[in-house]
Amino acid sequence: MEATAPAPPPASTTRPLIHLRDVSRRWGKGSGAQLGVDRVDLMVGHGELAAVVGPSGSGKSTLGALIAGIDRPTSGSLVVDGTRIDQLADDRLARWRGANVGIVFQDFHLLPTLTAAENVELAVEFGDRRAGRRQRRARSLDALARVGLDGKRKRLPTQLSGGEQQRVAIARAIVNAPRVVVADEPTGSLDQATGHAVFDLLAGLAADGTTVVFITHDPHFTERADRVIEMLDGRIAGHTAAGIDVTVDAVLVGAR
Ligand code: ADP
Ligand code: MG
Repeated sequence: MEATAPAPPPASTTRPLIHLRDVSRRWGKGSGAQLGVDRVDLMVGHGELAAVVGPSGSGKSTLGALIAGIDRPTSGSLVVDGTRIDQLADDRLARWRGANVGIVFQDFHLLPTLTAAENVELAVEFGDRRAGRRQRRARSLDALARVGLDGKRKRLPTQLSGGEQQRVAIARAIVNAPRVVVADEPTGSLDQATGHAVFDLLAGLAADGTTVVFITHDPHFTERADRVIEMLDGRIAGHTAAGIDVTVDAVLVGAR
């Protein structure tokens, strides 16, 4: 045991980009209530790559949906990039989400009747209503180029491999230059090599200053994360930042 008090956990940055205070998400009431996220406190800094791991049903997707503004906490406060998103009315939350968050899902969620370029253009429409047709097209092609897919812009999703579809989804997620990208098991439907290529793309976004919340089952990916958040039963069971265990309980125990 050390005689001196341990150093404080590494501050993510001066001001966190994502800040959850005592956030819960429950469904139903009383003894039959289901808890997705249970009184979670969490900060993620600007440009961090935060991996969220944990067994199935531990609350990873619920946490991701709250941060992305797809869902709302039933209690607690949730600030993303300076906005208290738990307090926004539904229409404002939808607009905020369109302009400020990119979301990537395991099964891509591309519209099957639209080409790669059109899928990405649609996101520009949601994110920036003032963008005209030519701007939408230009931004879409730029985003597709960033994921190495400008040559396949006219393909329908069925004419693309799984890895290519996921890259279109990433282009769609980044086309509005969001401050945060939430990816929920984005490699879950891909083979290992393709999954690693998708991870590399997301890690590159974080290196360029986008905050990335990367939800994964695969412990291989946690090695390269700045922050690893282990979920269990809706709570944070383990939390490592800069390679140091910053789990709240661990810090309290160390301070005794
Ligand atoms: P994970 O992504 O880690 O597998 P989820 O966040 O999907 O976990 O689920 C966490 C818990 O919340 C589970 O017990 C799940 O059953 C519950 N849950 C998720 N969504 C709902 C919902 N819409 N209604 C009721 N319970 C839900
Ligand atoms: Mg999930």
